[in-house]
Amino acid sequence: MLKFWKTKPVSPADHSTAPAVDFCNILIGKSRETFGEKHVWNILCSAFEFREMPKRMAEGSLVLSDNTNVETLKAVIISIANETTKAFGSVFAESMLSGALLKLEERYPSETIGSSVMSLIPAGFLEERKIKFLSKEELEKQVSEKTAELRKVNDLLEDKVAERTRELEQLLAEQDRSAKLLVRRDLELTRANDKLRELDQRKSEFLSIVAHQLRTPLSGIKWTLSMIMNGELGSVSNEQKVFIMKSYESNDRMIELVESMLRADRIDSGRSDLQLASTQILDLIDNVLYEILPGALKKHIKVEFNHRDSDIPQLNIDQEKMRAVFQNLLDNAVKYCRSGGKVSISVERDGEFVRFAIRDTGIGIPEDQQALIFSRFFRARNALKVETEGNGLGLFIVKSIIEMHGGKIWFESEENEGCTFYFTLKI
Ligand code: ADP
Repeated sequence: MLKFWKTKPVSPADHSTAPAVDFCNILIGKSRETFGEKHVWNILCSAFEFREMPKRMAEGSLVLSDNTNVETLKAVIISIANETTKAFGSVFAESMLSGALLKLEERYPSETIGSSVMSLIPAGFLEERKIKFLSKEELEKQVSEKTAELRKVNDLLEDKVAERTRELEQLLAEQDRSAKLLVRRDLELTRANDKLRELDQRKSEFLSIVAHQLRTPLSGIKWTLSMIMNGELGSVSNEQKVFIMKSYESNDRMIELVESMLRADRIDSGRSDLQLASTQILDLIDNVLYEILPGALKKHIKVEFNHRDSDIPQLNIDQEKMRAVFQNLLDNAVKYCRSGGKVSISVERDGEFVRFAIRDTGIGIPEDQQALIFSRFFRARNALKVETEGNGLGLFIVKSIIEMHGGKIWFESEENEGCTFYFTLKI
């Protein structure tokens, strides 16, 4: 919807309406040429919907009389301008109004047109011409109005910029505070880390001392118990022998624990070197299997060893340590396999590596504890339930040995379904 030009409407009392009536009649004439008589009549009828139809106005004589009031004139101009814009676009409507104005300028002086006609032209039309017809005072008034408006916008912008600057300053201050806090936290963490490392070092030293101190008396106890069992210190009844045998086995387990602790400590402190030698790994596995088989047979566990000899080259390894790896993994596979289950070993060449897999159909490892499985002294809850023997050091040592050889170890497992431990060794 087009709006009226903002300037105060000129009332008939102030000026003569004759130029405005003339302008409207010229405009009606032009729109008759464009739209035809009938259509212009309809346009005018809609313009007069709420107004009284001027006396001379009738279909066939579309001329406004001299005493037509300003409101009616305005309604006529706006209806024609809107209809023309709708039908042919704003450029055409503008040129039609401009043409009518040119014609009027032939009949009246500029001041007369400026004061009585320009204020009737709707806003958005002939804007450039309107300025030309404005009086100096009117022009100054409009300029000062616009300047005040611009000043207001400028003030608003300045307020917004100041507010934003304040916010940014606050944000920067906060960032500065956070950065300082982070530096402090980092320092605290570094200190805590150093302290932990120191404690770890002391714990490791303590463990090593305890293990060393325990080894000698435990060996002494083992030797004494064996002498008692063999009757070297006097006769022993069968009933006594059973108890001494149990003590002997417990003592053996303690010796094994102490040995494992010392082994883990040597690896941890980097005091464990590799004595590398070219080795036929399949023979080494056969050898370990020979030791494992009696225990497996006792639990009715089937053991399978799959390999294609020609594929597997000699490997440069520390035989003693690698033997401990197979002993540990196979021992676990049998230990955590249910009676009647199956343990299988496979060896394959995988590019620059040989890949080993030791699979069992045992209790498996609960999913929520799998991440901890290579940690020192860790034993999963299901293992604690079914197998009381064990110290949780085996896998820690196994992983360290494999990594010392430049290999990798990992596993796949589902609780109650079994476990497969994989590891690789470089060729
Ligand atoms: P442990 O002396 O307890 O066997 P390890 O370090 O050899 O110590 O193993 C750590 C833990 O990993 C075990 O206590 C057990 O929970 C789990 N584990 C290792 N091997 C197996 C396996 N083949 N099947 C199920 N659980 C296993």
